[in-house]
Amino acid sequence: MILPKVNRLPPEQVREITEIVEASGCHVQPIVGAVRTIYAIVGDERDELMISRLEGLPYIERIDRIQSPFKLMDIRSDLSTHQITIGGVTLGKAPLFIAGQCTIDPKNPGYFYETAQAVKEAGANVLRGGVWKPRTNPYSFQGDDRSLDILMEASRRTGLPVDTEVMDEDQLKLALDAGVSMLQVGARNALNYSLLRQIGAAVAGRKTVVLLKRSLHMGTLNEFISAAEYIANFGNPSVVLCPRGTSPALDGYRNHPDESIVPLLKERTWAPVVVDPSHSVGKAAYVPACALAAVAYGADGLCIEAHVQPSKGIGDDPKQAVTPDALAETIRLARAIWTLRHPAAPRA
Ligand code: PEP
Ligand code: MN
Repeated sequence: MILPKVNRLPPEQVREITEIVEASGCHVQPIVGAVRTIYAIVGDERDELMISRLEGLPYIERIDRIQSPFKLMDIRSDLSTHQITIGGVTLGKAPLFIAGQCTIDPKNPGYFYETAQAVKEAGANVLRGGVWKPRTNPYSFQGDDRSLDILMEASRRTGLPVDTEVMDEDQLKLALDAGVSMLQVGARNALNYSLLRQIGAAVAGRKTVVLLKRSLHMGTLNEFISAAEYIANFGNPSVVLCPRGTSPALDGYRNHPDESIVPLLKERTWAPVVVDPSHSVGKAAYVPACALAAVAYGADGLCIEAHVQPSKGIGDDPKQAVTPDALAETIRLARAIWTLRHPAAPRA
């Protein structure tokens, strides 16, 4: 819908908007009111070039879009009945719990094997473990290809599918070849459109699920959902949105907790939402409250960093990994809240 600054556009300006709109395969339908005339764009109004040309005209107040900018991930898309299943959980039918270490220590694989077993016993459905790490400081541990073997061995020992972050095409290939079931796109790469396209192309035709973190700097909802659209566009729409806190931080927390965006996302997209409270608050003691708040807000699951001995961990684990006991209690309470919100769901 084109809303001009004046009540009615003179014929030469109507001609100008008509030319722009018709160049994109749409046409203009004036809607004449008693005082004001506005101009509907009839056709697929998602053409960005058309919209920005119209917005650039000095006599145009604004363009209101009726159609969503995303075609596949939109709540009204035909894909809205698409079901994503991982670790025996179909999202939306039962809560999904992803848990494990931030970072696998290749020098001490024993901790990861113990953590894997402990998170399974605590009720996790998917095991997470960072093989390659996006570190703010270039001198911090960056990860190690050998950790991929440890991750897959832990998967074999526990029977849990695994989630790990990939940051480039080489890592993507290694992870898929090894049998990683869930690929994580980190907050720093959440708007790396080349990587999103590479991941989309690589997971097309597979059962792989992508866990897409929200970008670091308070990105808009549409920016977040559009990033998922990049991946889905290649043919595999199994993308799970993962709010993980934004920057700047709420004083005292690592980031600004953003689990409150869950209901807003759910108005626009059918994509399941699994919240990461660990990176949101950044300290183990605050993780359970954030996790439970996320489920109260309507999250379909949680991704929680956990470690059998957090103080012996590397990466984020010494600060924000919860112990298996704390994880088990959080999962227990989260399930109870989830069940209250879904009274019709079968009891686990
Ligand atoms: C992580 O999951 O360990 C991680 C680095 O997350 P994020 O990309 O959200 O910072
Ligand atoms: Mn981490």
